[in-house]
Amino acid sequence: MLFDMSEKKSVQGDPAKPLMVARVQLEDAAALELDYTVPDRLRDRVSVGTRVMVPLQRQRIAAVVLELLDHSSHGFRLKEIADLKGRGDPVFTPTLLKLARWAADYYVCPVQQVLRAMLPKAVRARPESFVTDSHLTLVKTPSADEIEKLRAKAPMQARILDELAAAGGTAALSQLRRDLPKASSYLPALLKKGWITRAEVRIERDPFDREEFLPTQPLDLTEEQTTCLAPVISAVENPIQSRPMLLHGVTGSGKTEVYLQAIARVLERGQTALVLVPEISLTPQTIERFKARFSERKERIAVLHSHLSDGERHDEWFKVHERRADVVIGARSAIFAPLENLGLIIVDEEHEPSYKQEESPRYHARDLAVVRARLENCAVLLGSATPSLESFHNATTGKYELLRMTRRTDGKSMPLIRIVDLRLERRKGGNSPDTRILSERLRTAVLARLEKKEQTILFLNRRGYNTSLSCMACGHVCECQDCAVPMTLHKTDDRLVCHICGSRRVPPRKCPSCGDPGIRFAGFGTERVEQVLRQAFPQARIARVDTDTMQRKNQLRDTLRDFRSQKLDMLIGTQMIAKGLDFPNVTLVGVLNADLALNLPDFRSAERTFQLLTQVAGRAGRGEVKGEVFVQTFAPHSPAVQFARHGDFEGFAQQELEQRKVFHYPPDTHVILVMARSKNAAMAEFTLQSIATKLRAVIGDDVRMGEPLPSPLAKAHGQFRFQLMLRSCAVRVLARKIHRIVDGMTFPQEVIVTWDVDALNLM
Ligand code: ADP
Ligand code: ZN
Repeated sequence: MLFDMSEKKSVQGDPAKPLMVARVQLEDAAALELDYTVPDRLRDRVSVGTRVMVPLQRQRIAAVVLELLDHSSHGFRLKEIADLKGRGDPVFTPTLLKLARWAADYYVCPVQQVLRAMLPKAVRARPESFVTDSHLTLVKTPSADEIEKLRAKAPMQARILDELAAAGGTAALSQLRRDLPKASSYLPALLKKGWITRAEVRIERDPFDREEFLPTQPLDLTEEQTTCLAPVISAVENPIQSRPMLLHGVTGSGKTEVYLQAIARVLERGQTALVLVPEISLTPQTIERFKARFSERKERIAVLHSHLSDGERHDEWFKVHERRADVVIGARSAIFAPLENLGLIIVDEEHEPSYKQEESPRYHARDLAVVRARLENCAVLLGSATPSLESFHNATTGKYELLRMTRRTDGKSMPLIRIVDLRLERRKGGNSPDTRILSERLRTAVLARLEKKEQTILFLNRRGYNTSLSCMACGHVCECQDCAVPMTLHKTDDRLVCHICGSRRVPPRKCPSCGDPGIRFAGFGTERVEQVLRQAFPQARIARVDTDTMQRKNQLRDTLRDFRSQKLDMLIGTQMIAKGLDFPNVTLVGVLNADLALNLPDFRSAERTFQLLTQVAGRAGRGEVKGEVFVQTFAPHSPAVQFARHGDFEGFAQQELEQRKVFHYPPDTHVILVMARSKNAAMAEFTLQSIATKLRAVIGDDVRMGEPLPSPLAKAHGQFRFQLMLRSCAVRVLARKIHRIVDGMTFPQEVIVTWDVDALNLM
């Protein structure tokens, strides 16, 4: 991609030398593209995607080279690029630059924001900040005389020589420092005398602590797996003629095996593969499955997700950048991994909302995967047991190719799902709140598992002990001061905690509003469930898995290992355990409250509930014994619950798609959510109303626009939130109109206006 040294005469600089102009994008400032000349000394080192430092008004600013030209269309004399940032090798591949522009265009956000999102923070801030060590080697043995002198005059230097000799002539500085903490300060003298040499080596920060994985062999595929793998392989071999593929495979149908064998084929062809997994199921188990299968090249697998330290992420990213990795497994932002020569992109659990970034750039990694595959000219495979209705719709209309796996491997059957009607339980159990946590039927089922030494997973998507605290006398509810949500009691540390902003306070002993001591806790979270379970089953070994208990690094890995090796009988947890886990001895799964997702004010609440129930249920019966699932709900007849019970995804999708069409919701349309937030409620509301008025004047009949309303989460982090929902088939046109209007208005300083194209979070 370097500049071609053509004969063209330039008007600037040395007339004998053709001009080399770099069109750059400033990394932090406004969405400006500017031209700079490339000075001679940098000519060989600047290419498309290189980060450079450029002068702008009296400052030096970081920028990325977007294009190299032989002239500039700017009419003024250009300044020179001042320097490279980092080593100068391009950090963005040409395709990633195109992807950035695509995303900036579709989500209507500044391209430099996308570019910034493409680089891990540690790479952006301090590129090439590797951890290094020194290898010291004894090169010349001093004479006995010299050594004696040294021992008398500089005993530390002598000791270093002794240690090196004892270590066989060479040792790492970090090693030496263990015995001789000040070793470094004596090295210059030894180096000067020519007795030792010193070489710097790079130490990779390995998120796996150099763990070993037992290699696995490819399994003999089932008939369905074979049928689904074939089109994936032909898409890898012939991407031009392929469409994006959607693999709908029930839980336990062996989708991962299909991924693994497809990747093996990609690697045989000398290409690379990118696997996206939702953050939450990027468990040690998932990574292990990949590292174990490709064990002979496990160093060539890079992992990118948010639980890595900055240093680890920096090193993993460079591993990809320096082409030392050919498989990348990662969460959302790994869609930007700088892999080249891509053969296949896989998006597992493609329905997961966590693929959508909730801050600008508000991209959807699954959608970018489809776009990137087109730009890279490679195959793309989306997989799920519960595809998003968007993707399923694309598959039924022929935009995507639909691949189906309807059965579990090895003739294992789908679990039997039983519905527990909590309305009846409440009548039976009188006023005891415990029966609502653990119904009689579920309790009996758990007991039976304990007796048979089978394992149980209980799921509740709510942390804490009690989920609200309210006054019986005046009705006051303890809310967070900054967010419009009740605070949750965490009993372990006896604090009320806000689950939106994390603020904490000591629980009041009497009502803060009227002083009445009759203040009561209500609602339950995982902490409370754990206590109820320990009382009900004192003999059971129970672990709770949620973000409160899994703070320590490797704690999740260790807990899941204990569960696998049956040192634990039961897990109670939040969505951390809802997905992707494969434990053959789990024969019972309980969903303690199916209604949490169902009651959300969101047109996708039925879809979310269906997905959640199906995924959680899918953890049961993965071994020889058939699994059983209990779903506790106050809404036993809702379609989401009923279709999930019968494992009927297509039935659910068909009915839900009809509804969406009637009411013009996605995938029939695209949603854009405009939000105004401010510490001042009136200003936020007024701002959004003005935007709505202007919008109304420019949108056509094809756009459905709601009213500006307080968001369901009406206040968060001290800001009041108002939102306006727009729906249209022509999403790009609409997004651009919104942008133009918002851009052309001036808002009171404290109001922040955002828009979210294809919004998933409507709270
Ligand atoms: P999914 O991702 O579709 O839920 P998994 O890939 O986790 O399913 O597979 C479920 C289980 O079936 C795993 O334990 C896996 O090792 C096993 N499995 C997958 N394919 C086969 C096969 N062809 N033969 C036997 N077992 C298989
Ligand atoms: Zn709060």
